[in-house]
Amino acid sequence: MSRSGWHRRQWLQWALACATGALALPARAVRLRGNPFASGVASGAPSADGVVLWTRLDPQAWQEGSTDAVAVHWELCEHEHFAQGVRSGQALATAALGWSVHVQPQHLESGRWYFYRFRVGEAWSPTGRTRTLPAPEAAVQRLRLVYASCQRWEDGYFAAWRHARQESPDLVLFLGDYIYEYPGTHSRVRVPPGGWVYTLEQYRARYALYKSDPDLQAMHAACPWLCTWDDHEVQNDYAGEHPGDGEPPGGWERYSFAQRRAAAYQAYYENMPLPASVLVRSLQSLEQSAPLCLHADVAWGRLAHLLLLDTRQYKDRQACTKGGRRGSGLVEPRYCPVWDDPARSMLGREQEAWLEQALAQGVAARMPWTVLAQSTLLGARNVGSEDKPRYWNDGWDGYPAARARLTQALQRHRVPNPVVLGGDVHENWVGHVLADYADPNSAVLGVEFCGTSISSHSGKADHTAALLERNKHFVFADSLRRGYGVADFTEQELLVRLRTLDDVTRSDASVQTLATFGVPAGQHRLQRRS
Ligand code: FE
Ligand code: CA
Repeated sequence: MSRSGWHRRQWLQWALACATGALALPARAVRLRGNPFASGVASGAPSADGVVLWTRLDPQAWQEGSTDAVAVHWELCEHEHFAQGVRSGQALATAALGWSVHVQPQHLESGRWYFYRFRVGEAWSPTGRTRTLPAPEAAVQRLRLVYASCQRWEDGYFAAWRHARQESPDLVLFLGDYIYEYPGTHSRVRVPPGGWVYTLEQYRARYALYKSDPDLQAMHAACPWLCTWDDHEVQNDYAGEHPGDGEPPGGWERYSFAQRRAAAYQAYYENMPLPASVLVRSLQSLEQSAPLCLHADVAWGRLAHLLLLDTRQYKDRQACTKGGRRGSGLVEPRYCPVWDDPARSMLGREQEAWLEQALAQGVAARMPWTVLAQSTLLGARNVGSEDKPRYWNDGWDGYPAARARLTQALQRHRVPNPVVLGGDVHENWVGHVLADYADPNSAVLGVEFCGTSISSHSGKADHTAALLERNKHFVFADSLRRGYGVADFTEQELLVRLRTLDDVTRSDASVQTLATFGVPAGQHRLQRRS
């Protein structure tokens, strides 16, 4: 282990203790000259008795270099006006963690909405609203969640979030590509300042830019989020420890991919409402490229078992990309000897084993719905022809043995109603989950809703009709529209509405329902409702 690695770890451990309020240190009063809460507030990772409250201070709000720790006071209350029964505490924001705080009030009541806010000196943050999970044994009537992904700044405005907030969800599932690391030179709508993103400072600046968006801020302030990531939080098409596309100037000799990934992961932690435990585990790891443990198991009372997966951090590199290049491509499996290699994994062996256990526990607890929330399309999608099938090697299609292990696990544990949610492809795809995608008569195990993007473009004219013809387990697809999905769970059925914008290049875009699907519990069948 390098000396500098040791220092970084010690430094971050100290900062973490401050930022969670675990370490009470005297902090100098800071003289403000601007709004320290320019990135808004957020909450996430709810449990039945707690939730993570997040904010990040903007250091431009005070004289640069005038302090190295700022005291952040927090309050949480059942009432919007913080009149009585206010819980409060203090955390320290430090430069080491990008001036972020992640506090976790404990012993809250289950299944309850709360309000929270922060204060620095005389400045109050906006008030956020959040909630705890229902008690594990509670018989709850319903769960409404919004699922969304892929918010590329240069491709459009975040009007989708303004409409998503009107749906009053209990929870937002964010499924990856929260930022993009591109310079935005091919901008369609607005150019992100700063060029390519490689360093910790650059990642931090990119998050600050995205979080300056008022619609995104308002959605964060409206309910807790559960977040996983995809590639662009680090770099296009990276896979585990392998870089994808887009080298830093001077190449990796100057700046290793391990360093870039570690910087990106740190900035991700700093900017998302994640529990401190994900960073603590990372700091205890002896590996050089500190992992960030995102996969999580969340029970919505006895109604739904939400399993948040990480399909990026542990995956093997893409197989047979043309010319031995890095990153992804379209591949004809018959010319790719390692395509079916069972040693290749999407989730990594540890997460696969964890998932097996989590599925078994969910089934034992008799929860009607099991939601697999992950970053990409699960079902096979042949984009070639009948006799020359071709598949995109970055998604689950590029990891067929790993996908088979996943569907076998669903079968082996007799998971009653699996619902797979995904993102990444910037198109809406709705289909049945098959036990074996190579077999046209395969058993149907569940349903899949892969969502379109909040703003990221989808390159092509609508090519979905031909693809639907060739991939019959999908029943609906649309590549033209941006938006989000709303999923309503009850014991009897799941109702999913695909909500899409009329024009992503306008911040005042309106929203429509593109299609509605019902899934009666226990039937594994999609019913088109509108
Ligand atoms: Fe994306
Ligand atoms: Ca992606």
